[in-house]
Amino acid sequence: KQAAYAKLRDVEPFSRDGQRVEVMINAGLRDDMPMLSLTGADGIGLFRTEFQFLVSAALPRRDRQTRLYRDVLEAAGDKPVIFRTVDIGGDKSLPYLRSETSREDENPAMGWRALRLALERAGLLKVQARALLDAAAGRTLNVMFPMVAEPWEFDAAREVFESQLAFLKQRRRKVPEAVHYGVMLEVPALAEVLDLIMPRLSFISIGTNDLTQFLLAADRANPKLAERYDWLSPAILRFLRRVTEATAGENVALGVCGEMGGRRLEAMALLGLGIRRLSITPAAVGPIKNLVRQLDLVEIGAAMAGWLANPPADIRATMLQWATERGI
Ligand code: PEP
Ligand code: MG
Repeated sequence: KQAAYAKLRDVEPFSRDGQRVEVMINAGLRDDMPMLSLTGADGIGLFRTEFQFLVSAALPRRDRQTRLYRDVLEAAGDKPVIFRTVDIGGDKSLPYLRSETSREDENPAMGWRALRLALERAGLLKVQARALLDAAAGRTLNVMFPMVAEPWEFDAAREVFESQLAFLKQRRRKVPEAVHYGVMLEVPALAEVLDLIMPRLSFISIGTNDLTQFLLAADRANPKLAERYDWLSPAILRFLRRVTEATAGENVALGVCGEMGGRRLEAMALLGLGIRRLSITPAAVGPIKNLVRQLDLVEIGAAMAGWLANPPADIRATMLQWATERGI
């Protein structure tokens, strides 16, 4: 398996028409870090900080959080890491937080989770902010908030970080050289109001796992809905196109960090829509780099535009045929 990772490690993902695509990996544990050099990925596009919380018997203390984040940054070296603040609650419930949940959510995915929980348990976000700011002292800190639905949620979360930063500066503590803020775009409503926070964003990462379940009202974990939960459905693709259009020409990096980006046809669709940053599972880095190198992005862009204007009955079959005809 390691040989398979290594094969394309040093190969840069340039498309046939010379466009550079960023291929990053999703991670969540210290043990994931060797994957960065094994795959030759461009960085960690999504570091799921809740993993530490999920594997702990009690709320991880600040020093343990700081140590993890520092180890991760050190292991990443010059490559960027995007830390996502905790996405717990809902179905990722923690025994040591459960007592504070007033009731079991009936629809956990749409429940009291992620930033919703973190903003109300202000101490939790404050501790995490402090741990991240300390860990990234002297470097760039990239921080991303999950499940943002409305601009005020982003502003409130950012304010928690900014006030911790002000506190550290006042104490003359070493702080990050820069703090870059971003959001996960996974609640559809946010797409309608992105312009209101875009000036304060450095990046947007589309979480297609959640976004798809919300757009299609199809539980991502329900096997009975597996066929309906389709990343290549024209509705999903048109929605993603609107987001790429809304951010085009803006000073904000747009990427996708859902599992979709690690699948061949789905990645092809995303590239055709103009997405140039994918954060994917490490095992998919080689195959996706390979795909990028086989594609002419202008050509797939034109093909996508046609399929979205006039969706074929089976877009998956059509795309597969298109690829096969080109030896991809
Ligand atoms: C997503 O929703 O697409 C995502 C990347 O986050 P998670 O899978 O952790 O919900
Ligand atoms: Mg998500």
